Amino acid sequence: VPGARRIDVGGRVVLPGFVDAHTHLVWAGNRAHELEKRLSGATYEQIAAAGGGILGTVAETRATPADRLTELALARIDALTRGGVTAVEIKSGYGLDLDAELKILDVAARAAEDRDVEIVATFMGAHTYPRELRDSAAGRERYLDQVCEEMIPRAAGLPGVRFADVFVDDHAFGLAEAERVLAAAKGAGLGIKVHADQLSDGGAASLAAEMGAASADHLEHVSAEGLDRLAASGTVAVLIPGASLFLKMNRFARGREMIDRGVPVALATDLNPGTCPCSSLPLVIQLACLGCGLTIDEAIVAATLNAAAACGINDRCGSIEPGKRCDLVVLDAADRRELVYRLGDNPLRDVYVRGVRHVSAPARD
Ligand SMILES: [Zn+2]
Repeated sequence: VPGARRIDVGGRVVLPGFVDAHTHLVWAGNRAHELEKRLSGATYEQIAAAGGGILGTVAETRATPADRLTELALARIDALTRGGVTAVEIKSGYGLDLDAELKILDVAARAAEDRDVEIVATFMGAHTYPRELRDSAAGRERYLDQVCEEMIPRAAGLPGVRFADVFVDDHAFGLAEAERVLAAAKGAGLGIKVHADQLSDGGAASLAAEMGAASADHLEHVSAEGLDRLAASGTVAVLIPGASLFLKMNRFARGREMIDRGVPVALATDLNPGTCPCSSLPLVIQLACLGCGLTIDEAIVAATLNAAAACGINDRCGSIEPGKRCDLVVLDAADRRELVYRLGDNPLRDVYVRGVRHVSAPARD
């Protein structure tokens, strides 16, 4: 390859840079106090009724200027990169009105200019209903109209916005509403993704497959039928074991069964303030093996090439090949198994983003 240079890594393992296929990393505020309440037995509904939960984050994110949101987002991207992430998907969805959603997508675009990490933006105005429109059927209908008729066309015109996503859940959007959002997104030329079957089996995986989604994400409660539909459509299952743990769900997505049924499996942190404030992709890889039943090699593929496919960037990311970005992770080990064995550690020596070395651990030699 012209211009190639040789790097001596001292016999250590070199992997493709990790791809984080699902984050919500543009937000303001902090919800550590909610974690403490949940650990003391409070339910999410009680926390939301007291003004917390996602709508608390929406209020703080709306009130925060784009400059400050950009600083916060860059710090989170840098934290991900210290854990080997060289490409990341970023969803909007803490704005829930046209201006605030566009502000968040603008922050993602600024981050893409400021960092060499590959950034894919996803519009997620259909994260939940905003406080001001959620309490009546007419209000919710109006919000859906805004999402489909105003926000999606505007978002689709922005550089870097490749997908739209919708949260299908009893507390968010039903299947019919989701279908409308996804159809509008496809009509605007966007790819589609679905938050599917996280808290119960609502048939969202089947909808994602039927609509030709690039990915169906979460899937802790997906049915066997839903999995077979995903396998048939080639939709990538993005597993988020960090959220299963942080929400104390007492269950992980059935990654082993997914792979056995022919579903391509990817991994993500879900980095967000409420359900998974985790910026360590190595921890996610470890949980995918220990909780979801993946082998070490399956987890590595899930965190690289399959995650890139879930984000539509497998033409440039996810594997070490001529013609792709030179995004590399050098383990601080000569054995790839150390990545999972060193539980809770980020066992990385170096991370290369576009061929530039970001030192992530002090050199020991
Ligand atoms: Zn999410």
